[in-house]
Amino acid sequence: MDMKKLAAALIPDGDLLPVEEYEKIYPERTRAPKAEVTRLAPSPTGFIHLGNLYSALADERCAHTTGGIFYLRIEDTDEKRRVDGAVESVIRSLKYFGIDFDEGAEIDSPLNVYGPYYQRRRAKIYRAFVKDLIERGLAYPCFCGEDELNAVREAQTAEKKTTGYYGEYAKCRNLSEEEIYNNLAAGKPYVIRLKSQGSIENKILFRDAIKGEVTVTENDQDVVILKSDGIPTYHFAHAIDDHFMRTTLVIRGEEWLSSLPVHLELHKVLGFKPPRYAHTSSLMKMDGGTKRKLSKRKDPELSLDYYRKDGYYPVAVVKYLMTLLNSDFEEWSLKNPEADWRSFKFRIEKMSRSGALFDLDKLNDVSKTEISKLSAEGCYEFLKGWVDEFGTDADRAHFADRQYITQILALIMGVGGKKRRKDIERAAQGVRLIDYFFDDTFSPEYAYRFGKDTVNAVLDAFIKVYDPADDNSAWFAKVKAIAPEVGFAAEMSDFKANPENYKGNVSDVAEILRIAVTGMPNSPDLCTIMRILGKDRTLARLEAGKI
Ligand code: GLU
Repeated sequence: MDMKKLAAALIPDGDLLPVEEYEKIYPERTRAPKAEVTRLAPSPTGFIHLGNLYSALADERCAHTTGGIFYLRIEDTDEKRRVDGAVESVIRSLKYFGIDFDEGAEIDSPLNVYGPYYQRRRAKIYRAFVKDLIERGLAYPCFCGEDELNAVREAQTAEKKTTGYYGEYAKCRNLSEEEIYNNLAAGKPYVIRLKSQGSIENKILFRDAIKGEVTVTENDQDVVILKSDGIPTYHFAHAIDDHFMRTTLVIRGEEWLSSLPVHLELHKVLGFKPPRYAHTSSLMKMDGGTKRKLSKRKDPELSLDYYRKDGYYPVAVVKYLMTLLNSDFEEWSLKNPEADWRSFKFRIEKMSRSGALFDLDKLNDVSKTEISKLSAEGCYEFLKGWVDEFGTDADRAHFADRQYITQILALIMGVGGKKRRKDIERAAQGVRLIDYFFDDTFSPEYAYRFGKDTVNAVLDAFIKVYDPADDNSAWFAKVKAIAPEVGFAAEMSDFKANPENYKGNVSDVAEILRIAVTGMPNSPDLCTIMRILGKDRTLARLEAGKI
């Protein structure tokens, strides 16, 4: 058969370059010997998840700890799944977590010389190589329809054979020249398949950068490389792209491990040296005592939007993921609490071979700790960023008063105290903690443990002596002073000795004041709260707290 003629009939494009040209157009990158070129290659579906961030973090670390490049490629071969704005959303989401690309789709960079970075815009490159494979007898047209393929699969399943298009089942592999041209003349749709040269008798010893040595069986499947719409499959496109974008290390989910033999064969027939591959294990969670994969359908925490909407401190999410990526990160982080997480020596080889267990409680802990390390001003900036995007109108109005909120945060966080408090876990929760400092969001419950007369007597007594200029000790002396007036013990020791003589003790007096002023039985230091609220607001609350 005249293969050149066949290739021209199947791929009639008149403007394809000879394949050798591409080696010149996309030359090897000049880079330091150990510098890694990595990429994130998402489909533009609009759903960017924790697994993407996990993987992106590994990519970014591998590139940036070796002086290499991390780029963004959009795998948009499936037009049906494309969602507008998805690419911007990937970039924005990752940026929120401090991960930036050096090069790629929608990245403004002088390094963008390996593009286009959208696969659909690379159709000519793929088609040039498919044509070349046909000319070399390594690919062929397949006219089998879906029904035919289904029937073959059913027969294979019934006979307990491996399913797929291979060996004796690869019907179109042996079509005569006449049959092919007749089908083409009849306008039958076709795909192009790889004419596999492999055999399942052969094993390949392969070294995965994470999983270590893996033995896989050689591919013998005549996989589709070009679909009937003229667009390549993932298998083919990624081989071409990772070669010509000069990727050195492909980090991707372990669900691709089973297609690795196909990918190795594709690189071989294309004459490319394959990149190193690193297959990451899936993120798992505990669900009622069993470990299972995080699922898009069941677990809202898989979506990255979840963390932004809930206002997780981004560095905390990243640090937590780092503990999952490299198990010695946690110890390093404890030893170097102030150090930038980027100074940790990340190594792909240290990644876990089995599923990493994602634990939201643990993440919440890390988030609290990270937020507690901020200055009050830093915390204000963080919360304000969340409020601007997700807060209510009332939140936005409150956050206009930077100075007032910064004072509140200093109190809530225990700035200046012996030990920082860890009350703020996430912005969505932290912003609610300050609601009671504003009259429009102050919604007291007044759950007093004493009756009307006692409560009102305590409040009246304190109103009489209250002086906003009092420091903490003068303030407390006054609370103590009013205690006996209203039937409470001023000294704990007196109360303990004869509890029957008193309604309660000085801390019960403080509790009544606290409930009136904050609406809650527990709060940070009440004297400071009164000072922040100011005289008028404090007095108004003491009055309003009467029952
Ligand atoms: N587009 C593929 C995915 O989203 C990329 C896999 C890879 O990184 O090679 O799963």
